[in-house]
Amino acid sequence: MATTSREIHLKSRPVGTPEAANFEVVSVQVPDPGAGEVLVRNAWMSVDPYMRGRMYDRPSYVPPFQLGAPLQGGAVGQVVKSNDPKFQPGDWVESMNGWREAYVSSGAALNKLPAAGVTPQAFLGILGMPGMTAYTSFHRIGEPKPGDVVFVSGAAGAVGSTVCQIAKLRGCTVVASAGTDEKLGWLKSVGVDAGVNYKKGELLENVRAAAPKGIDIYFDNVGGEHLEVALEVARPFARFIECGMISIYNNSAPTPGPRNMAYIVGKRIKMQGFIVSDFMDMREQFYADMGAWVRGGQIKWEETVENGIENAPQAFLNLFAGANTGKMLVKLD
Ligand code: NAP
Repeated sequence: MATTSREIHLKSRPVGTPEAANFEVVSVQVPDPGAGEVLVRNAWMSVDPYMRGRMYDRPSYVPPFQLGAPLQGGAVGQVVKSNDPKFQPGDWVESMNGWREAYVSSGAALNKLPAAGVTPQAFLGILGMPGMTAYTSFHRIGEPKPGDVVFVSGAAGAVGSTVCQIAKLRGCTVVASAGTDEKLGWLKSVGVDAGVNYKKGELLENVRAAAPKGIDIYFDNVGGEHLEVALEVARPFARFIECGMISIYNNSAPTPGPRNMAYIVGKRIKMQGFIVSDFMDMREQFYADMGAWVRGGQIKWEETVENGIENAPQAFLNLFAGANTGKMLVKLD
């Protein structure tokens, strides 16, 4: 018997900042699973800034979303029916079939969640893609050493807050930038040394005051003015980890780059962009270290939760308004 599921489709491509009207909730019938297939009901779905890039119709490292088709993203859910002997009803699985309540998949495309003593949604955050993004790029590109000064933008988000805490575990001094004093208060409570509210006062002045001797590593989630400021305060041989540039994702025309790029030469700065999938070779190391830190209480995380698939588009829009602390999630009915 078919299962009813609601899913979120891209109705139109956003121009500038996305709006609720760019999305629609569609009710569909999901068929029973065929041979080797599994029916899954999602319980939690991830909401991620990178999805904005897939809403443009242009070539990228991942294909654009199609109009009139469901969006895709990370999700965890439970098996309802299985024709694959590797899965039993009740098993928790992870997939890229988010933005829908239920789906049928080949068993081969599903990852069974390990019994790790954490909530299932932790595999969408600290033990999932954002945690892996933070862990792998910080070590591989940042090459941290004890005593380094690390500047993190977007610091109270899923990736940023993880980077801040890993940097502290590696003996670094951490300066965090975020959009509210409450977010900075939380970051201080998990060990960050200094916080800058980028919505108050002059960013350059405030970062200089927080890092008077300059910075050795910049973890960039934001781009724009933050990147220009980081170039200004970088010490010789600084490493710039280019993770994301959320401040310009909604710009409809190319923006001028930082005006001080020449510092890259004189300060011998290493600047590298990456996509988390570049570092799959570090996956086992990530699970080992992050698992131990989570079990030992050395890394903390926050979640911001919207309820119901119908509120998923708003959760996505809220990322650009800074409404989340830690991982933005949607809990499905
Ligand atoms: P997130 O930081 O949890 O959420 C986005 C945050 O960005 C918001 O809470 C908001 O916090 C901040 N923000 C929004 N607009 C801004 C603006 N104009 N200027 C400054 N800050 C702004 O998201 P996330 O999932 O952890 O992702 C963080 C970054 O990493 C994003 O750029 C994302 O695209 C990137 N990323 C890259 C990879 C990769 O493989 N390269 C993988 C995952 C994520 P405030 O209150 O502080 O403004």
